[in-house]
Amino acid sequence: MLRNLVPSFIKNKINPITEVHIENIEKTQNKLIRWAQKNKQAMLMFMPKNPNSVMTVLNAVPNPIGLHVHLSEVDGALPEYEVQLEKLAEGLKFMKELGVEVVDFASGHWNYDYYTFVVCKELGLKRVHIRCVHIPRI
Ligand SMILES: [Zn+2]
Repeated sequence: MLRNLVPSFIKNKINPITEVHIENIEKTQNKLIRWAQKNKQAMLMFMPKNPNSVMTVLNAVPNPIGLHVHLSEVDGALPEYEVQLEKLAEGLKFMKELGVEVVDFASGHWNYDYYTFVVCKELGLKRVHIRCVHIPRI
């Protein structure tokens, strides 16, 4: 593919990465810190696990922070409203305990439904990130 012929440092200037969903932070922590320090515009969206690794990253980088929660398996059915509420409230509690207030949320596997938005509104997650591909043609 032609895009792969463009070196990444040029590609990132043209089309900077705006957010990353962080999985397996315990394995990628130091690499993530180095990358985030060079890509300060990118929002780091953390899963609510491994608090020590998350804190290490937070203390080392200036990037904006968001919440990333997997509400379902890949292509799996989303749970009912109450379960989504519980999972997102748990995620927010995790961030709050680290002293971080977040208003941005990206759902795992870009899987969300009407209730995801209802829950986010109730919990004060004002910005729900969606894939552009989901915006209907108008
Ligand atoms: Zn994910």
